Amino acid sequence: MARYECAVDVAALDAVDAHVHVEKDHAGHHSLPTEVIEAAARYFRAPTERPSVDETAAYYRERATAAVVFTVDATTQLGHPPNSVDDLVAGAAANADVLIPFGSVDPRRPDALDEARRQLDDLGVRGMKFHPTLQGFDPSDERWFPLYELVEAAGMPALFHTGQTGIGAGMPGGHGLRLGLSNPVLLDVVAAAFPRLTVIMAHPSVPWQDEAIAVATHKGNAYIDLSGWSPKYFPEALVRQANGPLQDKVLFGSDYPLLTPDRWRRDVAELGLKDDVLPKILKENAVRVLGLAGTSAGTSAGTSTGRGRA
Ligand SMILES: [Zn+2]
Repeated sequence: MARYECAVDVAALDAVDAHVHVEKDHAGHHSLPTEVIEAAARYFRAPTERPSVDETAAYYRERATAAVVFTVDATTQLGHPPNSVDDLVAGAAANADVLIPFGSVDPRRPDALDEARRQLDDLGVRGMKFHPTLQGFDPSDERWFPLYELVEAAGMPALFHTGQTGIGAGMPGGHGLRLGLSNPVLLDVVAAAFPRLTVIMAHPSVPWQDEAIAVATHKGNAYIDLSGWSPKYFPEALVRQANGPLQDKVLFGSDYPLLTPDRWRRDVAELGLKDDVLPKILKENAVRVLGLAGTSAGTSAGTSTGRGRA
């Protein structure tokens, strides 16, 4: 079993993409059932083919960009197991100069705590990804607090999908997926109960942008990743906050392969962000939030400090 050890050289990086999906493993298994992949591809007008973990690494290496990679285990809700997390982490370990793997466990699995512990302790994942709508759970329910406790104790961030989703879009009943579970105000409860847990709210939280801004403003441990939408379509309030009060709390993310980092970066140039703000969004905030500065290749002396989180 390959344990991930981060080998990202922060100084050599142009950017950090905080939100990248790897949804296919080496056995060819996809994270989502075929009919859901096809519906999502129609919604995003994107190809159904998913790049492998190695292809993803090569793509990001070419761009001198590190990528946080993950899948989503929504076994209970979908009746479909995800692509292998072990395979994803092994791929990230083999490409540790550019990939940063997050784990994923379906909170509704009876063995969720053991599996989260295994991913954090044995596989060395650098955070956990949750998708309340896809996984069908209310993140503010105290039932899931033991899971957050584990992630907090490991000193790792928890990233939650927020806002609407293309998954299930246009399908009868949206494939049974409930949008309200991804209202970011539910994460206010998590951030309040776990003040040492870094909570990253993924995406412009359409149609709850004001809620996400309120949580990120009030909770020192809450952040926003800007993935999933071209910056062209960002709500005005989000742009104003990113360029001002929340400039230290927003992270570049694409949602690759559904949106490419090239497109995102081309379009962000049109937002008129201040010169000193863009470098924070593209790299500096992520280095701090993900604890990358303390990784072995990230220190100038080249010494390993293990998990570098302060
Ligand atoms: Zn995503």
